[in-house]
Amino acid sequence: MTNVNVDNFSSAAQSDSQFVLAPLPYADNALEPVISANTLSFHYGKHHNTYVTNLNKLVEGTEFAGQSLEQIIKATAGQADKAGIFNNAAQVWNHMFYWLSLKPNGGGEPSAPLKQKIEAAFGSVDACKKEFATAAVTQFGSGWAWLVLDGDKVAIAKTSNADSPLTKNIRPLLTIDVWEHAYYLDYQNRRPDYVNTILDKLINWDFAAANLG
Ligand code: MN
Repeated sequence: MTNVNVDNFSSAAQSDSQFVLAPLPYADNALEPVISANTLSFHYGKHHNTYVTNLNKLVEGTEFAGQSLEQIIKATAGQADKAGIFNNAAQVWNHMFYWLSLKPNGGGEPSAPLKQKIEAAFGSVDACKKEFATAAVTQFGSGWAWLVLDGDKVAIAKTSNADSPLTKNIRPLLTIDVWEHAYYLDYQNRRPDYVNTILDKLINWDFAAANLG
């Protein structure tokens, strides 16, 4: 298997001309106790799966049938009459990217090339984590916080609802889902606890490093 990164991971969502629910990269209890099996099974099996089902219905018989998620996301971004297709395609992509952004026994420190880029941009890995957490906590309502590569510089971004840095041609390195369905069963309203615990225990710096390309 080739190294899974931002350039190739989304092909697991496609089989023939249909979108499919790509396998989770770990068991649904593998992220406990930070994210419970209960949360993960609803989040993956219900929420993520519904975006796949809706996307298949919406693209059937249209010019988008048979296109990749990235093609659909870029072609429909910002178009009011294509919002349904954009939202479902982007949410399929974002969720697959989120599962890969976490791993059992994650956290710790990134490896050398990525660590140097982070230190150049933020001063330290801790400062980067702090800015990442602030973006996740202050995203008003539903959305996503991101570690991105903007040009040659590592940066933090946040997006609302289904939106993604891809629409601005910015390269995602990691994401954190801050829709309530991502944490409410385990943390209720305590989004900061969910975010900070993920960054300490689950964040997958190896995936971020692979995404540098
Ligand atoms: Mn979600």
